[in-house]
Amino acid sequence: MADENGTPERSLMLATRNPHKVVEMRRLLEPAGISVEPLPDDVELPPEDGVTFADNALPKALAAAAATGRAAIADDSGIEAAALGGAPGVHSARYAGDGASDEENLAKFVDEVPPDSRLRYVCALAYVNPETGEERVFFGDCRGRMAHAQAGSGGFGYDPVFVPDATGENRTMAELTDAEKDAISHRGHAVRALLRWIRL
Ligand code: IMP
Repeated sequence: MADENGTPERSLMLATRNPHKVVEMRRLLEPAGISVEPLPDDVELPPEDGVTFADNALPKALAAAAATGRAAIADDSGIEAAALGGAPGVHSARYAGDGASDEENLAKFVDEVPPDSRLRYVCALAYVNPETGEERVFFGDCRGRMAHAQAGSGGFGYDPVFVPDATGENRTMAELTDAEKDAISHRGHAVRALLRWIRL
């Protein structure tokens, strides 16, 4: 939200330990004039044990705002596969087990999900301002299908097997440019919803 002069806040604390998210959030927010500050090392984030993406995102933003006294955002995101009844969903970061790497999670996903079956990325983006007491959660999603083979080196996580509908092509998310991913991604849509609200 804007201050009394209608000027948007210039910086937000990002409550994540995922360096890929810091990169993507900076790319999405800094052109809008909002700088993204990484979470100080000594701030502890709550466990991600919620049932929904919003259940996980909001406590992270609340913890960062409480610890720093600054407006904070946190994203909880993941992938849903129709062939797995919507899994891994909120468990995407640890699909192959606690502490699993992106590569291990992706290998398990590739073993279980048939080519061309439906996929969806989801992002819940929480915003907390400790000065005003505002707490909001914004959502974005991105629909696509399972690739026939892994391709591309961009992005992170499940991007090498996610073929987004929005391009109308067969390239995976990992084969898109950063700007192409940002224009259609779940995180891009959620950030633009936040920006529309901040500029109200
Ligand atoms: P969390 O939000 O920290 O629980 O982690 C989300 C997990 O979902 C990531 O570790 C990735 O495995 C996956 N994920 C979320 N967003 C993306 C994306 O844009 N591309 C690929 N994988 C993603």
